[in-house]
Amino acid sequence: MHDVLPPDSARRRELVQHFAAMAAAAGYGEVVPPLLEDLGVFLRVGESTDVVTKEMYDFVDKDGSRIALRPEITAGVVRSFVQHRPALPWKVWYAGTNFRHERAQKGRYRMFDQVGVEVLGVDDPDLDVEVIALAARFFESIGLRQVELLVNSLGDHDDRARYTEAVRVYFESRRGELSEAAQGTLDRNPLRVLDAKRPSDQQVVQDAPRIAEYLSEASAAHYGRVREGLDAVGVAHTESPLLVRGLDYYRRTTFEFAATALDAAQNAVGGGGRYDGLAEDLGGPPTDGIGFALGVDRILLACDAEGVFPAPGPELDVFVVDVVDGTAARDLTHELRGAGISADRRFGGGSMKSQMKTADRSGAAVAVLVGEDEAAAGEVTVRPLQGQGEQRRVPRDALLSALRPLLLAPPTPAPAPRTTPNPRTTT
Ligand code: AMP
Repeated sequence: MHDVLPPDSARRRELVQHFAAMAAAAGYGEVVPPLLEDLGVFLRVGESTDVVTKEMYDFVDKDGSRIALRPEITAGVVRSFVQHRPALPWKVWYAGTNFRHERAQKGRYRMFDQVGVEVLGVDDPDLDVEVIALAARFFESIGLRQVELLVNSLGDHDDRARYTEAVRVYFESRRGELSEAAQGTLDRNPLRVLDAKRPSDQQVVQDAPRIAEYLSEASAAHYGRVREGLDAVGVAHTESPLLVRGLDYYRRTTFEFAATALDAAQNAVGGGGRYDGLAEDLGGPPTDGIGFALGVDRILLACDAEGVFPAPGPELDVFVVDVVDGTAARDLTHELRGAGISADRRFGGGSMKSQMKTADRSGAAVAVLVGEDEAAAGEVTVRPLQGQGEQRRVPRDALLSALRPLLLAPPTPAPAPRTTPNPRTTT
């Protein structure tokens, strides 16, 4: 687990806000499920997966109930859907933290953030296209160019079951050639052997049966329409018949985004798919579902690798330099912030020269200086720190109007008290 400090925290926030704006513009509302869920929520969705059996932080609560820190967000969102039964279709986005007890390394952490969307109640393959295109466009819009999209279909419930059995029989017939780890995976979850990374296992995987031969007509048609739609809207993708994802609940369309600028072992920056049986597994009515989760930490590493989406610079309008006794700094910063102008100052005084150094480092657009002369005359000196413009002395009362033309962005008025009643809480 790691701390996120400025300026990385500002970059992370900007990334999430950007995602939020894109999701909202496509008709998605925000959902905020709890960080903790009943352990059963995760057991029911991934009993044979490493994420749930090995990596989950679960514990007995004070009242004896067993709960877990979420290792992913989809299960909680679908649990929340089952509990509240919102009108369909339900289109939501989220941003939040997950916990997995993984072997930590670069790009793989025990606490990491994801952004994602989920849609419940729509079977239409064109929705798959919408969802995939949203993620693809998000990557593109933050400047990433080296992101590959892999797509596959795992078939519906029955196709998947028949395919899993075929894969199991195949791997059993070559068990002796598999590594010990892959043999263990074969016992727990045969499909996951397809994801084995060791070169010796990969050789066996290459000859494994392909899902295409096991897809029903309806599943094949769904998948065909998804690929056709991705082509139509210009989302480049590669079919990857061996793509299976970490959690058990995926059905039909499955996809993953890989950032090729990162080391192959940790280059998945997001993935998702359909999970048409999940609401039912969690006690709800049969409901189609699809979503994706993108790894914020890894996306930022990919941005570093491609040299895009830099941390935002400091955004400060004014730095107040008070070389008298700090009174003007105290009062002016308060006044300016109240007028929607961002302002900072230095505490503990200091010479004009040293305070000006701090002002320069702050990235402020303008310094407002108050020395003995200004204080005695009821004036301030306004000194532009960026761009053109002459330093000038103005009466303190005229400070706001003197500042306005020098600021980089128009002032954002401080929020007014809410006087209009919230229509949703009044009758
Ligand atoms: P998953 O739910 O495992 O498919 O994860 C979705 C995305 O979350 C992955 O593509 C990664 O970008 C990210 N992710 C998953 N596990 C971790 C982790 N331990 N540390 C950092 N990012 C992760």
